[in-house]
Amino acid sequence: MELGKKAEIIAVGSELLLGQIANTNAQFISKELAEIGINVFYHTAVGDNPERLKQVIRIAEERSDFIIFSGGLGPTKDDLTKETIANVLGRPLVLDDEAFQSIEDYFKKTKRTMSPNNRKQALVIEGSDVLANKFGMAPGMLTEHEARLYMLLPGPPSELHPMFENEAKPLLLEKLGSNEKIVSTVLRFFGIGESQLEADLEDIIDAQTNPTIAPLAADGEVTLRLTAKHADESETERLLKETEAVILDRVGEFFYGYDDTSLVKELSKACKEKGMTLSSAESFTGGLFAEWLTDLSGASQLFAGGVVCYSNEMKQHTLGVKPDTLQQFGAVSKECAGELASGIQRLTGSDIGISFTGVAGPEGQEGHAPGHVFIGIFADGKEEVHEFNFAGSRTGVRKRAAKYGCHLILKLLEQK
Ligand code: ATP
Ligand code: MG
Repeated sequence: MELGKKAEIIAVGSELLLGQIANTNAQFISKELAEIGINVFYHTAVGDNPERLKQVIRIAEERSDFIIFSGGLGPTKDDLTKETIANVLGRPLVLDDEAFQSIEDYFKKTKRTMSPNNRKQALVIEGSDVLANKFGMAPGMLTEHEARLYMLLPGPPSELHPMFENEAKPLLLEKLGSNEKIVSTVLRFFGIGESQLEADLEDIIDAQTNPTIAPLAADGEVTLRLTAKHADESETERLLKETEAVILDRVGEFFYGYDDTSLVKELSKACKEKGMTLSSAESFTGGLFAEWLTDLSGASQLFAGGVVCYSNEMKQHTLGVKPDTLQQFGAVSKECAGELASGIQRLTGSDIGISFTGVAGPEGQEGHAPGHVFIGIFADGKEEVHEFNFAGSRTGVRKRAAKYGCHLILKLLEQK
């Protein structure tokens, strides 16, 4: 059937209108639907008010054949999405035994007593397909009514995301008569800007339909999400690998990992694989690099330790930076970065020492603009220093530097 050609999302919740939360559910659902070829034409946010919700449902019904709701499925009085939709459709709410059972179990597990309004959560619009909630209590629903599809999802993203992925999406594909499997993979890049990456791959991105290629930039990194569709799952894998190879042939030097990995996770993995240890001397990053590394379990295998050397005295007395160097070149200099890196390596006896010195901003310092950064690396008796000029906020500059630190050591380890 020709359903779901024109979709729209209605997010219910006064918090959205008060600016207390951002409508990330609409963003998530839109992205997911785009991947399975369903076009979303409108996003609406409406407060917890039945009259206004009714109005937006009527407007949506004029122009869409697939309406997705998020929020307002909970137990309290202001949760009224389901009741209002049932009312508009003229369909009764009935108790769903399975949902009721899972709510009872949830209470038993958490050793709390169930209150009467929790029963309300197990009510579903009669004739709906119920979407189980594995991470909360309120079930979701998918229901067909007069050649339209209505999908109801809970507000908390921790419930909505898995429900959409695991319950709603497969059912939707089935309803839309598709037996295609959809598989996606994310390629992560660092050290190249979004516009450069897109320019390098422009012809490939433009020509590609299966898999589709969607670039996204965030936090100084660029990712490409490749999404392939095919009835045969092994074929989707082949399509993904084929496109990945073409992409990496051009921009492979900036690629560092797949899906939800991070630079520091890859760095930690690489150090363990090569049996290398690290130490850090950090000035303006204030220990950020060390924090990231020690956030990961098993850090003791690879991280000897670090020094936060903010003042010149610390740089000099703890890490052995020469007074001359500080006087002649200043703390924010190639020379100081090099001496810090070798100093921390000597102090800890690690295989690699890294240093961060620079100006985080927002003000300049010693005649340097904010974002002027030096990263030193000392390994195999040799030092190398990299100079950067980052734009952005204080936090942004510090993060960029720590990420570059990971990136530079990763590159060094690749050669080992
Ligand atoms: P609950 O059972 O927790 O009451 P619910 O389905 O009734 O869930 P709401 O009460 O509307 O959902 O929202 C619960 C929480 O979910 C909100 O406080 C907010 O943190 C989050 N949330 C709701 N709507 C959105 C949205 N559109 N985008 C992102 N987060 C949202
Ligand atoms: Mg609620």
